[in-house]
Amino acid sequence: MSEILLRGKAIPLEKIDNRVLLSARLCDLKFLKMKLEKGRLRGLVDKLYSDLDQAGLSQLRPTVYFGDEWFSPEGIPSIAVPFYLAHPRLMALESAMMNHVEGRTPGWFMKLIRHESGHCFDHAYRVSQTKKWSQIFGNPELKYRPDIYLPNRHSKDFVRNLPGFYAQAHPDEDFAETFAVIVNPKSNWEKKYRNWPAAFEKLSYVADLIRKYGDRKPHLEDKPDFYNAIRMRTTLSSLYQKRIKAKKYATKAVSNLTENPHLSIV
Ligand SMILES: [Zn+2]
Repeated sequence: MSEILLRGKAIPLEKIDNRVLLSARLCDLKFLKMKLEKGRLRGLVDKLYSDLDQAGLSQLRPTVYFGDEWFSPEGIPSIAVPFYLAHPRLMALESAMMNHVEGRTPGWFMKLIRHESGHCFDHAYRVSQTKKWSQIFGNPELKYRPDIYLPNRHSKDFVRNLPGFYAQAHPDEDFAETFAVIVNPKSNWEKKYRNWPAAFEKLSYVADLIRKYGDRKPHLEDKPDFYNAIRMRTTLSSLYQKRIKAKKYATKAVSNLTENPHLSIV
């Protein structure tokens, strides 16, 4: 049973109301301890591993654990999946607080985790440090916030994997989105993007990188999962306050950008 530990007492998650749940810290959600070892998401993580294998990546197997958001820590080939996907009760809270639950369905989850595995590929083989990578995707050192950008909805220079034309947020995101399309066994990218020359060039380049590095051992061994939710002492209440504030800020910034696209966003 999924329980939460509050003031030394284990309470079943199903029996807890929002107010009490919000007073808990992430580290009180004891059932998050597992690195997705079992449960309904295990099959989806295994699917990622089989997709990577099928794409020609025999060595890259990112460690996956629960964190506070979708995330691949800089320099480490591991993936944090947000804690709220661990249990329907937490998804209900996420929905009540944020109005949507990113990665709720299996298809959406796979798009997100393939995207994060693209960042892992870069962390493992450091491909974004090459001149060729910058020529294809742009400057990876550009400062950015992933929630503030103004996409061109008609552009055929970028693949489409996550909603919101996310490849246009930053060169690193463009790379991760391109990687996600390649490792999706159903993307049929050679046909789908054949009349999108810039996107096709990126896809062909990433396919070449996979052929080059696919059988090599990643540069870095997995480090301890510093971003694991069970290490976090922040309460759900302060976490949501922070996220709601950031969301409001991003909405306002995007609307300012719409009016003046040359504004600096960071
Ligand atoms: Zn990303």
